[in-house]
Amino acid sequence: MRTWAEIDLDSLAYNIKKIKKLSHNKEIMAIIKADAYGMGAVTIARELSNLGINIFGVSSLEEAIELRNYSVTDDILILAGMYEEELELAKRYNLQITVTNFDQLEQVAQKDLDIPIHIKVDTGMGRVGFNPGDVKSALKFAKEKNLNIIGIYSHLSVADESNEESIEYTKKQLEKFKEFEKIENIKYIHILNSGGILKFGENRKDNLVRSGIILYGVYGEGLIEGLKRVFTLKSKVLFIKTLEEDSDISYGRTAKAKKGEMIATISVGYADGFRREFSNVGDVEIHGIKCPIVGKVCMDMLMVKIPKEIKEKIEIGDEVIVMGEDIFEKSKLINISIYELFTGLSRRVGRVYLKHGVPHIVNNLIGKI
Ligand SMILES: *Cc1c(COP(=O)(O)O)cnc(C)c1O
Repeated sequence: MRTWAEIDLDSLAYNIKKIKKLSHNKEIMAIIKADAYGMGAVTIARELSNLGINIFGVSSLEEAIELRNYSVTDDILILAGMYEEELELAKRYNLQITVTNFDQLEQVAQKDLDIPIHIKVDTGMGRVGFNPGDVKSALKFAKEKNLNIIGIYSHLSVADESNEESIEYTKKQLEKFKEFEKIENIKYIHILNSGGILKFGENRKDNLVRSGIILYGVYGEGLIEGLKRVFTLKSKVLFIKTLEEDSDISYGRTAKAKKGEMIATISVGYADGFRREFSNVGDVEIHGIKCPIVGKVCMDMLMVKIPKEIKEKIEIGDEVIVMGEDIFEKSKLINISIYELFTGLSRRVGRVYLKHGVPHIVNNLIGKI
């Protein structure tokens, strides 16, 4: 493989234990939408299921059905609202749905399918959900129609930000949600996402947390102390040259390199998910040494300058760490969120799952799951 994501399953298992502690033993719903943030939803679900996670959150009906098609039998909640035309399939595949307004509640009642429902309340995210003041009548309606309400939840918008204003805002959201924590006979009450788990894990009477990016040892503000980093993006040296004259490098001639400099070409590009914004600003690591990216990142390749420390050592095929320990700094460098770096990994990037430091499962374009 030319470019692959290494995903350390031992670190994932370690993190689950820690997250359980951080959330004061609440049940963990693992959020594995967007192909488990690029880590591979099916493999991650199977692994987490073995680690005792029995409920998963995905974004869409199709993501949920993919998991069912690969024999994931645990509970699955579709988080991102619902469409009426999805209800039959949601029932057939034994999925849980999120209902965000009265119209949807009526649609579900009309179909009479006995689908498990989580009621979503908007406490300040400003995206989807009932107004807090409408929840009571929603629950009343649900009771009259004999609907199967098994959850009530809300979502935090700035839980991963540490500035004073954000902390206050999150506290307000938690405060608004408090009245729903008192409701009895609903199985799951949940509001905490990764940032929430980290900073407000002791939160009162909720009994389920929605754990997303924290599974991989990172969150919106960086690596998390006490958790292990799960993900590393790796690639290989494809070509090496020592310049015989001053030269322009890559598309657009945005970089000049000097005679005598050593330039290596690496088999990773923006079509793998390594963003073009890293052109002339980022670096990669070879033999433990940072090598600055020169010129524009191409679709399938990029060029780096080889520092003198490793000029004698470097060879074609050498392993390159494209993003590892520095993933958070990298996201800052080009001003995007770490979520985007993860979820941008493309289909052709191999996924190599490690156990005890060696490949345990390898998924790529020619060998699947
Ligand atoms: C994506 C998502 C999460 C998980 O978010 P993280 O920040 O990755 O923990 C939780 N809840 C909802 C509703 C989501 O959409």
